[in-house]
Amino acid sequence: MPARILDGKAYAAEIRHEVTRQVAWFHSHHGQIKLCAVLVGSDDAGRLYAERQRKLAIVVGVQYELVELPEATTQEELTTTIDRLNVDRLVTGIILQLPLPAHLDTAAAQYRIDPYKDVEGVNPANIGWLFYDEPIIAPCTALAVTELIRRSGVTVRGAHAVVVGQSRIVGRPVTMFLLTQMATVTGCHIATRDLVAETTRADILVVAVGKPHLIGIEHVRPGAVVIDVGINRVTEQDAAGKTVRRTVGDVDFDAVAPNAAAITPVPGGVGPLTVAMLLRNTVEAARKQLDRKI
Ligand code: NAD
Repeated sequence: MPARILDGKAYAAEIRHEVTRQVAWFHSHHGQIKLCAVLVGSDDAGRLYAERQRKLAIVVGVQYELVELPEATTQEELTTTIDRLNVDRLVTGIILQLPLPAHLDTAAAQYRIDPYKDVEGVNPANIGWLFYDEPIIAPCTALAVTELIRRSGVTVRGAHAVVVGQSRIVGRPVTMFLLTQMATVTGCHIATRDLVAETTRADILVVAVGKPHLIGIEHVRPGAVVIDVGINRVTEQDAAGKTVRRTVGDVDFDAVAPNAAAITPVPGGVGPLTVAMLLRNTVEAARKQLDRKI
């Protein structure tokens, strides 16, 4: 039987409706929710991404402001900007658009964001709290992955999960979430000796590497749930021999889908849900600031 397609777009639409109601409630009881995105440099992709964020924020009733800093911004100036947003009581959420120009220290800037306003869940404090299963705000992509697994209907407790890719912001938080939910988890990475041997043991296979079609049919056990986090732009020839650019994941979808129980498409899987989780985190952050203790 062909795999169930885990439609991230449809789930994201449901979550946007929920968030819209929550924002309206918050507005009538406590005031506005306001998201500030900091963009350093004149990166067109970054501005485009910010424009998309603005549209989505406005749809759910969240105020949005883009703070643009010049390419030559120093670390100290970036820190000052983040500190200003941290203490601004009207700002309830902060996003730092990546990548930063090469001369800036990304981790130091993320560390500077108030954990209660860190709607992307990238502050090391928030990532560290995952170990205690008590993040103030959890990383959006990892939340999107666990939400998709939950909606796939697979039981996580006792399942064998394999997470390919162990970045601090995606793979490791996903590994930690799955461990907390009592899966037995194997973390694979560039130094894993026999990837096929590891991935074919998976009931749940999560791939977050950034290599198009890394995972083929030989990597997937029949009946597994496959979550593809990868986003890769590739150039291909279409049927008429024309060169086209398209977005693909880390999983060879056409080869793997007939064998899996459920699978996420790329685009339209984890990506839209990550954005929806950002909106959910934005409300969550505003709520938590009401009764913060530190
Ligand atoms: P990263 O480059 O920080 O980490 C890549 C990881 O993959 C590392 O742990 C590395 O050891 C591992 N790896 C590299 N080659 C490998 C191989 N051949 N076999 C096994 N492991 C290998 O990447 P990241 O920031 O975690 O992003 C991963 C992918 O996810 C990218 O395509 C990125 O665009 C995408 N992404 C998607 C979303 C979303 O919302 N859908 C969000 C964030 C990242």
